[in-house]
Amino acid sequence: MSANLQQQLQHRGHRLTKQRQAILAILSHTPQSVAMIRHTLHEQGFHFDKTTIYRNLHSLVQHGLVLATKLQDDGLYYELASHHHHHHVQCQNCGRIEDIELDEHALLQNAAAHSTFAIKQHQLEFFGICPQCQS
Ligand SMILES: [Zn+2]
Ligand SMILES: [Zn+2]
Ligand SMILES: [Zn+2]
Repeated sequence: MSANLQQQLQHRGHRLTKQRQAILAILSHTPQSVAMIRHTLHEQGFHFDKTTIYRNLHSLVQHGLVLATKLQDDGLYYELASHHHHHHVQCQNCGRIEDIELDEHALLQNAAAHSTFAIKQHQLEFFGICPQCQS
């Protein structure tokens, strides 16, 4: 885990527990389901139950260190919060996930033109067939 993450947490007056440290260490910038996270933790000798993992992820999300995204089958996937906003595309066949960066300016202009709301945030995920599954 990066010293930066640890600093961020301490800065906010939160102790980084052993469980949260273990979870943060295996998260990446590619979203993972709780089942995947649990599997990797298990391989590394951490035998946390699902509830413990959910509880810790929830608290990391609240501290802004982790992002939760709803992807395939309405499941929640978790990744490290990165400094820049982005979207995802997930393969409907194998579940593989990649990041997509959109033209946010055009997107927000388009949304604003079709709504009377002052838009503050958005979530938008894509689903399709990855190159491996196309062949
Ligand atoms: Zn695929
Ligand atoms: Zn991502
Ligand atoms: Zn966006």
